[in-house]
Amino acid sequence: MLSLILLSVVAGGSQANRTTTQPQRSAMPAYVQGDAGPAGLKAAAANITEVAKTVPQDWAFPFPAEGIPVLMYHSISNLPGNSLGVPPEKFALQMKYLYNAGFTTITPDQLYSALQGKTRLPRRPIMITFDDGYHDNFTAAFPVLKQYNFKATFFVVTGYIGPGMLTWDEIKQMAGAGMNIESHTVNHLDLRTLPPARMRKELADSKTAIESNLGTKVEYFCYPAGKFNSTTLALLKDLGYKMAFTTVAGTVRRNQPLLQLRRIRINGLAGLEGFQKQLPN
Ligand SMILES: [Zn+2]
Repeated sequence: MLSLILLSVVAGGSQANRTTTQPQRSAMPAYVQGDAGPAGLKAAAANITEVAKTVPQDWAFPFPAEGIPVLMYHSISNLPGNSLGVPPEKFALQMKYLYNAGFTTITPDQLYSALQGKTRLPRRPIMITFDDGYHDNFTAAFPVLKQYNFKATFFVVTGYIGPGMLTWDEIKQMAGAGMNIESHTVNHLDLRTLPPARMRKELADSKTAIESNLGTKVEYFCYPAGKFNSTTLALLKDLGYKMAFTTVAGTVRRNQPLLQLRRIRINGLAGLEGFQKQLPN
């Protein structure tokens, strides 16, 4: 049921499913067929002042003119023919590359603060995000991220947390290690199709669920399949969300609307060279 819901929402907007060689969906783990999405331990991020305290002293760089890359991952697994799955060995190589190339991962709080012009940044800032909350994010991605002391943001669908996807226990472990857990709605529906009250519930209940389970503040959001309308923007603002991420390709720049931030989709079928080309020099 989960797979059907995720897949149906994603079918129209996912570049991965537009390839001529359609993957055999039945052969894939059901939960990985759609686009997949959290915040970390944000105890010290209650406000800008607190964030500033968490920024290392040697962060001396202004907001980069070329923008900040926000990488978008879904499942870290082998899904032949499906670009939404990044094989674990490829993911490990990508993280190794980022580390060796001198990238420093930043948190959503740090990005927000930098967008406000309130904090400086490391030399090569980058954000790593995961959509949907696939279980392999814990088994395949989390250990590699820890290895390089990288921080990542996981946008989870709170209605699907449990066996087969990330569990609350796993999510708590990740948050405890500094990962950010943020909202990707309750049911991963196409928000444009929902009446305002129903849409509000998707945005509000997912926020509350994560906040009550982790004791953290949830202020960042990711649109299911990148779909939203003007009502969504108004509701997010009203509910206290500070930033929201789309699936529109590009880096995050200073003048970008905070609720329409761009990301870089990582294609699981591409090699390391293709990965490198997507990043700012
Ligand atoms: Zn998604």
